[in-house]
Amino acid sequence: MKMTTVSQETWASGRIVTAEAERYLPAAGGDFIPDAEIAELLKPARAPEAARVRELLAKALAVETLSLEELAELMRVRDPGLWEEMKAAAGAIKRKVYDNRVVTFAPLYLGSRCVNDCLYCGLRRSNAAVERRVLNLDEVRAETEALAGQLGHKRLIVVCGEHPSTGLDFLAESIREIYAVRVPTRRGIGQIRRVNVNAAPMSVGELEVLRECGLGTFQVFQETYDRRVFAQVHPAGTIKSDFRWRLTAMHRAQDAGIDDNGIGVLYGLGDWRFELLAQQAHVHEMERFCGIGPHTLSFPRLEPAVNTPFVEQTRGVSDDDFERIVVLARLAVPYAGVIITARESPAMRRRLLPLGVTQMDAASNVGIGAYADGQEKQKGERQQFLLGDSRGLDECIREWAEAGCITSFCTAGYRCGRTGKCIMDLLRSGTEGKFCKLNAVLTFREWLDDFATEETREIGFALLDRELEEIRVQQPGAWPAFERAYQRIVAGERDLYF
Ligand code: SAM
Ligand code: SF4
Repeated sequence: MKMTTVSQETWASGRIVTAEAERYLPAAGGDFIPDAEIAELLKPARAPEAARVRELLAKALAVETLSLEELAELMRVRDPGLWEEMKAAAGAIKRKVYDNRVVTFAPLYLGSRCVNDCLYCGLRRSNAAVERRVLNLDEVRAETEALAGQLGHKRLIVVCGEHPSTGLDFLAESIREIYAVRVPTRRGIGQIRRVNVNAAPMSVGELEVLRECGLGTFQVFQETYDRRVFAQVHPAGTIKSDFRWRLTAMHRAQDAGIDDNGIGVLYGLGDWRFELLAQQAHVHEMERFCGIGPHTLSFPRLEPAVNTPFVEQTRGVSDDDFERIVVLARLAVPYAGVIITARESPAMRRRLLPLGVTQMDAASNVGIGAYADGQEKQKGERQQFLLGDSRGLDECIREWAEAGCITSFCTAGYRCGRTGKCIMDLLRSGTEGKFCKLNAVLTFREWLDDFATEETREIGFALLDRELEEIRVQQPGAWPAFERAYQRIVAGERDLYF
């Protein structure tokens, strides 16, 4: 359906429900990002002593959220030896909370139309070089069949611009369509078991509808917490230019009953030190308001996009600083999942994996309709930005296995009600890891049998042998039931979980 400019504008003017932003912010004005306090913390100051750094690392290792002051102290560490200790602590926290698992997923772009005009984004409305398209439900099904049937993904994140053609009804129908797909595979059935969403902020009522459709994690990135930069990159008059509407997106998600929520910064827009501290203030606010912090932190970094000169003119963030960002965030919010997407190169993803990463996409395609029609996968005019890692899922999983990480396709936590506060408590206490280990092994075995190449199977089975032995020794109580479930998977049954 072609929308006229006028109807698009009318639609856009009704998107922001001011009362649903104001409700969560101080009555006297302002919000929970303490600009002045952050500016004070960023003033030049002495680096902390080694003993103080170790005290802070011990706090992070006890899975306690750091204060702004504590995070600022760690940001000032320059000593190479202490920095190595910080990196080691980031990896140790990840292993304590999430063990050696990597969760994988793929993005599914539903539409490239957008009423906003974000300077950094290939999909911005003023970019005439991008082909505009919205998938119909048949195409959503075809994309899902390719992802679940050929590649073996079990989790998707649906992504789209903000546009009436990809509004609430469309999103809801697409999610239902995705969950309904079943594709025969080598030995079982391919299906998507968890659908996450990365979309524009929504009202409580809209989010309730998505929750009822089985929405997993709801992600909204603030992009930048720096109000001046926010105003520069999001032209006035666009929906996205409303800082407060975006800042309160997670409050509304919580009120809609969605308690797995993801936040993030688009690194490269503002000063990363400011962004990390401001994000930490957002984490504190979520902990205060929701009783739980973010389920995931994402680390998109500015990537080139077709006909998007803003990106080339922006200094961005170096690889070394990006590594710092991920390590500091891992320490500051020890329970949160850390997502590093295929925006990053294989080398960068390899470098970050041991530093606390919990989720990575693979075989990703950010072109609309590009999974099903394959050949044109990296055509720039179909994409929001250009990907750094275009390797297939089999290659990524093999590499992670060689690094000692088991790829988990587990989606059980969500389906057993282990979400929100419940999962946070389990993560903090290290208990979730016990369920996750069992489910990771079951789903990894499923994937190896259904999709892996011979080479990956060989490496995967060697890893599974070690995992099975670990469960037998460390979880003797769970072992008999687990072993029975494992044998049923080997015999061809699918989707068994604890
Ligand atoms: N349109 C919605 C929005 O902006 O909230 C939904 C998702 S948008 C398609 C997904 C994310 O991609 C944005 O939040 C932004 O952080 C990121 N992004 C946009 N342009 C990018 C670029 N050039 N490089 C890397 N990430 C980018
Ligand atoms: Fe639209 Fe999102 Fe791109 Fe902004 S970042 S132009 S809102 S798709």
